[in-house]
Amino acid sequence: MNIHEYQAKALLKSFGAPVAEGVAIFSADEAEAAAKSLPGPLYVVKSQIHAGGRGKGKFKELGPEAKGGVRLAFSIEEAKAHAKEMLGNTLVTAQTGEAGKQVNRLYIEDGADIDRELYCSLLVDRSVGRVAFVVSTEGGMDIEAVAHDTPEKIQTIAIDPLAGVTADNLSALTSALKLEGEAKADAEKLFPILYKAFVEKDMSLLEINPLIVMKNGRVRVLDAKVSFDGNAIFRHDDIKALRDETEEDAKEIEASKWDLAYVALDGNIGCMVNGAGLAMATMDIIKLYGKEPANFCDVGGGAGKEKVAAAFKIITADPKVEGILVNIFGGIMKCDVIAEGVVAAVQEVGLKVPLVVRLEGTNVELGKKILNESGLAITAADDLDDAAKKIVAAING
Ligand code: GDP
Ligand code: MG
Repeated sequence: MNIHEYQAKALLKSFGAPVAEGVAIFSADEAEAAAKSLPGPLYVVKSQIHAGGRGKGKFKELGPEAKGGVRLAFSIEEAKAHAKEMLGNTLVTAQTGEAGKQVNRLYIEDGADIDRELYCSLLVDRSVGRVAFVVSTEGGMDIEAVAHDTPEKIQTIAIDPLAGVTADNLSALTSALKLEGEAKADAEKLFPILYKAFVEKDMSLLEINPLIVMKNGRVRVLDAKVSFDGNAIFRHDDIKALRDETEEDAKEIEASKWDLAYVALDGNIGCMVNGAGLAMATMDIIKLYGKEPANFCDVGGGAGKEKVAAAFKIITADPKVEGILVNIFGGIMKCDVIAEGVVAAVQEVGLKVPLVVRLEGTNVELGKKILNESGLAITAADDLDDAAKKIVAAING
């Protein structure tokens, strides 16, 4: 689960991190009061969407000459004008895809006088099984480009979970970022705060790009992107309350309500499966026969008819889907329950694309009977190979 920059900053501030004063607003009318509450004379008006690259982004409605999604303002009037222009429009950045994202919230922040822009993130480094800091002196711009062109400018420092952030770690971090004096002292306070926030709140990513050194020599968190481990959200009601569903894929929200694992992909075959292993095998075999999966929805082990029907509806709601492959191994899950769910969903939403169903396991004969007697245009398949061939053939016409 992701949150907005202003929410991430408030969270980090509660742990003691240095962030600027700022006010989140939802309408242009609020801009003046928000800016007036800040010290000035420099204000930053920042689009709040769940995607990075806002500064270099472009508003669809405003044309290529207009400023991006993060704007400096040198007066309250200018901050107001920016807010009015930005709110409600669609921001397209390197991370949003062509469709862009509508800006419904802005964050008006006290502007900083920047000397250096650094990069600092925390993530779970699976290769060492630890939380690690990833830092670079080359912050503020596209860190992917830095990683690609000059990987030696990025350093990874893993943290021992028993020891926490040690003096040695701090020294490695501050020297990697070439920090001196007050900035170094600020950073030595900040890094353990970031680590604590990451661990306590079950984050999966905490990215500060840029972490800045200001002209006055002090350090500040200028941007913050935080993702939380979805499997741990139940432990954090405060985090759950920050969820902004307008930023999420409607199908993924619906799937999470039913406790279904739904993953959107780029191809055109929708897949309903049970179990991650079968999902992988199903996608592999679709690729083997020359097509790509549009998505997969894993109904898990013990789904009832309603859950299966919900999964089917989610899969068909994707306009990219030109055919559906249901591939279920009925162990705990019974094939007749799957069949009933599929039939119920098709009766409700209709079937506009070919549907191939491969069932195996408990009550398989009963399941096939239900499908055959439903009167619906469902193609039955005997095994995985047969199923993949049939759905690919059906799509190819
Ligand atoms: P992103 O483009 O989505 O990553 O948004 P950021 O919050 O990182 O802002 C983009 C860029 O705007 C930063 O790299 C800075 O160069 C600039 N910027 C943001 N806030 C300030 C500020 O307070 N003062 C100044 N001078 N520049 C800022
Ligand atoms: Mg940034």
